[in-house]
Amino acid sequence: MNDTMRNVTAAYPDTLGAAGLLTIDLGALAENYRLLSVKAAPARAAAVVKADAYGLGAEKVVPVLLAAGCRDFFVAHFSEALKLRPLISGDARLFVLNGLLPGDEETCADAGIIPVLNGMEQVTRWKEEAAFRETTLPAALQFDTGMSRLGLSMDEARVLAADPQGLDGISLEILMSHLACADEQEHAANGAQLGVMQEAAALFPGVPVCFANSGGLFLTGDFKGALCRPGIALYGGNPSPDMENPMKPVVTLDVAVVQTRSVPAGTAIGYGGTLVADKPMRLAVISAGYADGLPRSLSSRGAAYWNGIRLPIAGRVSMDSIILDITALPEGTLKLGDRVEIIGQHQTLEQIAADAGTISYEILTSLGARYRRVYRNALPVSA
Ligand SMILES: *Cc1c(COP(=O)(O)O)cnc(C)c1O
Repeated sequence: MNDTMRNVTAAYPDTLGAAGLLTIDLGALAENYRLLSVKAAPARAAAVVKADAYGLGAEKVVPVLLAAGCRDFFVAHFSEALKLRPLISGDARLFVLNGLLPGDEETCADAGIIPVLNGMEQVTRWKEEAAFRETTLPAALQFDTGMSRLGLSMDEARVLAADPQGLDGISLEILMSHLACADEQEHAANGAQLGVMQEAAALFPGVPVCFANSGGLFLTGDFKGALCRPGIALYGGNPSPDMENPMKPVVTLDVAVVQTRSVPAGTAIGYGGTLVADKPMRLAVISAGYADGLPRSLSSRGAAYWNGIRLPIAGRVSMDSIILDITALPEGTLKLGDRVEIIGQHQTLEQIAADAGTISYEILTSLGARYRRVYRNALPVSA
């Protein structure tokens, strides 16, 4: 190939063919861990790294958190724990929130992973594993304090606490429960759940309490216990919509324009022709859609940004592309290959989530595999 025959220059040589650029600021992640640690003190801050660290890449996220001083990690599924175990060793603990399915006890004990025991059946099986090994196995014990999701009922907790052999072979590392309404600071359920948690903790004296998620850390009251369990706040999400976001943004997302066109009034735009141009319009097609985690509920609702100018989504979100109304931009401004902002300086994660009728958690964990991921500010030099 003769180079002089090419008259194009690669504007973005770092994208490896991807049309979307997802940047993840690991420095901001470390800073968020520090902020949450300060907020949690004198309790310690763990890190919830389930769902591939909320979609950001657990293999990249975990070493940064370890270097920042985090020693307690939570995943949801046992499969996630097995995958991350080689990264989390030594004095760091790795907990499985959803507990163990029957048959996973041996592998779990071999790997030194700590199950959250959510019911009496799980307590029994973990005791049996300990007895078989003639050893003591660590566990977290979870109570249902009012969410009706995972954990022992208070009746079960009382029976267990009253049984002198109830926890034979199990060393309780933490007592835990989860808040259903921590993102609503004034919600009465928070205080009610705290009351039940304190009752449960009194049944197992001396065991550290682990209660608050991101939102719980910002509640007024005795929610912190000995160990807090933030997830979304680490990744830059707002722990509570009731306040300005105190966290550093971690994620930015920019997507390339793959075509622009002008259409006369009366032109149908996108699948189903749900939008018809009411005037001459200019459109840009960008190369990301619902398969890339931009939900179909953004159809004719959300927007992208170009140099601070809002470019509304026009018509339905497709699987692989979205049509933007760029009539607000002077003709010729946006060209093939230019990138528009989906998450960044002008549009927060919360904003796009709100436009989609969902929460930041769902946007982050759905981001998909087709973006080029760039990790900035990798590990700080000093651990
Ligand atoms: C996901 C989860 C967390 C983290 O919650 P955030 O709101 O993301 O901080 C903590 N505890 C449990 C049990 C969870 O399922």
